[in-house]
Amino acid sequence: MRAYYTQMEAAKKGIVTPQLEIVAAKEEMEVPKLMELVASGQAVIPANVNHTSLSPEGIGSGLRTKINVNLGISGDSKDYDRELKKVQMAIDFGAEAIMDLSNYGKTHDFREKLIEMSPAMIGSVPMYDAIGYLEKDLLEITAKDFLRVVEAHAREGVDFVTIHAGLNRRAVESFRRAGRKMNIVSRGGSLLFAWMEMTGNENPFFEYYDEVLDILREHDVTISIGDALRPGCIADSSDAGQIAELIEIGNLTKWAWEKDVQVLVEGPGHMAMDEIAANMKMEKRICHNAPFYVLGPLVTDIAPGYDHITSAIGGAIAAANGADFLCYVTPAEHLRLPDVSDVREGIVASKIAAHAADIAKGIKGARDIDNRMAEARHKMDWDEMFDIAIDGKKAKEYFESTPPADRHTCSMCGKMCAVRTTNMILEGKKVEFCTEK
Ligand code: SF4
Repeated sequence: MRAYYTQMEAAKKGIVTPQLEIVAAKEEMEVPKLMELVASGQAVIPANVNHTSLSPEGIGSGLRTKINVNLGISGDSKDYDRELKKVQMAIDFGAEAIMDLSNYGKTHDFREKLIEMSPAMIGSVPMYDAIGYLEKDLLEITAKDFLRVVEAHAREGVDFVTIHAGLNRRAVESFRRAGRKMNIVSRGGSLLFAWMEMTGNENPFFEYYDEVLDILREHDVTISIGDALRPGCIADSSDAGQIAELIEIGNLTKWAWEKDVQVLVEGPGHMAMDEIAANMKMEKRICHNAPFYVLGPLVTDIAPGYDHITSAIGGAIAAANGADFLCYVTPAEHLRLPDVSDVREGIVASKIAAHAADIAKGIKGARDIDNRMAEARHKMDWDEMFDIAIDGKKAKEYFESTPPADRHTCSMCGKMCAVRTTNMILEGKKVEFCTEK
């Protein structure tokens, strides 16, 4: 008999786990305070007992906003080496989570390698993998088959799984009645909807939710309750379908906590800026302050090629208003599987959004790094600036691509550098532009 099965159970029993201690140190938070957050479900530490290379992180109230990087093999793009390059990039940039969204062939080998090499927590969507894993077409898959795929992922060492358990018959009815421009844009959600409609059955993850929770509890896998009805355009946001599913997710959250399974709640999607703050507050209210994991939100629909920007704007507003975990979006969103450079752009954009929100949220230490940057800029210490920058490599490349004549400036204003001028005057020096060489 184990002393505890999940981080939540340990926290409820007052047991300080090694993972809890590490996260408390990373967050500069007292252990009892973090323990209280984990016990109440306001924070999670996704840490599968089989993920031995994990450097645990916490997600939730009062903690730094974390980011997730999606990658994985698709039927149209099966380059394993390229996906592993993306993994390494995500790790190098300090992304706290990587989701394997592979949906082609036998995904086990890729995920095994990923779990072996990644200190970042690993997430997956077993629904994507069902057809490949089971070698059956959608209509032939039984409810219990879906559970077998969840169990396989849990055994492999995945730290959190997206399960669209909230898309039950009630939520589907609301979605149908309300009508939408973009209907269902969640990949897993659309597969489930198709299965439910073709078989006439209830959502298997809802119908057998207790069994799903037992599997997750056994390996301490956090359930990330997916929002199958997330809006896929700003016209569909905050509609009856989205809210009906959110109410179901609120119930499922409490249900999971009764079994000590940690919960993340997934959220929108596409959403105009003026709706984001209210949506964050509503999620926290309906889902009992469970950590919120947002997939965007993209604040406009008209910027394909630049959706890392539309998403970073929405992500920053969302996180400043309570979202705890941002799923990155790359410039390739809506267009193709991202390449390595797209992944880099997406990671940086979401890191900016997360950090900007942490400053607004008053997260401990968040402003310190900005203050260090200001000091380095004041001193014109370029090496220090490159070291502090989220993407120091790019910053250095830009600086050196058009080098200034005087290293105490950059090539933008040259000798008329405002910082240099003011520094010189405050140091009691004279400023003479015409006589200076
Ligand atoms: S030269 Fe202009 S842009 Fe460059 S550091 Fe000085 S003030 Fe800033």
